Amino acid sequence: MIEFDNVSKTYPGSPRPAVAGFSHRVHRGTTTVFVGPSGCGKTTLLRMVNRMVSPDSGRVLVRGEDIGGGDAVGLRRSIGYVMQHGGLLPHRTVAENIAAVARLSGAGRVAARERAAEMLRLVGLDPALGSRYPTELSGGQAQRVGVARGLVADPDILLMDEPFGAVDPVVRRGLQEEVLAIKESTETTILMVTHDIDEAFRLGDEIVLLGEGGTVQQVGSAEDFITSPATEVVREFTGGDARLLSIREHEGQQVLVDRDGRVRGVLE
Ligand code: ADP
Ligand code: MG
Repeated sequence: MIEFDNVSKTYPGSPRPAVAGFSHRVHRGTTTVFVGPSGCGKTTLLRMVNRMVSPDSGRVLVRGEDIGGGDAVGLRRSIGYVMQHGGLLPHRTVAENIAAVARLSGAGRVAARERAAEMLRLVGLDPALGSRYPTELSGGQAQRVGVARGLVADPDILLMDEPFGAVDPVVRRGLQEEVLAIKESTETTILMVTHDIDEAFRLGDEIVLLGEGGTVQQVGSAEDFITSPATEVVREFTGGDARLLSIREHEGQQVLVDRDGRVRGVLE
């Protein structure tokens, strides 16, 4: 669905490449999470998919086609994008912010408004919030609006750049639930970026752990990372032995289970 083929990017004036020789394939209908420390090239990689950044070398294929030479505007409209810092226009209402994206994809005024309300409901917000301005929203609400905007054109690909960065852990968990529900209810291929390994483990079917310059440290499922970390560095990043325990629901109680499936305790 999305293929990075040996892409590199050095920003003008920068001594080191932001991304050096990165290759990876994102499969249709899956959720892939790029995780790694700040500055390791996650945003750069994500923006290569909708051509907001062009690689200096290598190529990116989307839906089987090299996007290098094609129509950048059409490509961008066909891909949902939730920006790292929300990216809502401050002088437009919430509904206008969302509807504007639907309008760009060809919806009429009325249809775009209806669709905006529908998207607000989808991300768990009251459509009445549509008449507010972005500054009148809480951090969690604003992030939900960002997701609503990313989904409004019904894209088959959704890019999300640290979509839940600015919210407290409880709200964050609620938003993650929302993404899990969207994953269940749509066929959307999601490529998401985070620096939070727990978020990556919760949401990613496949997780790509990146180091400096977009170097791949390990690729796999959450289980792969936890049960067989590729290196000592990966083991430390993913929390080492602490992660041998996971939480499961059992007859209405939350129990701690180790990696062999043995129950180690019950949470109060
Ligand atoms: P991440 O999203 O993982 O934090 P980025 O892709 O934003 O990483 O950045 C990777 C590297 O490229 C960083 O060193 C960053 O400072 C640099 N960088 C990012 N965007 C630009 C830019 N527009 N101009 C110059 N350097 C940039
Ligand atoms: Mg970033």
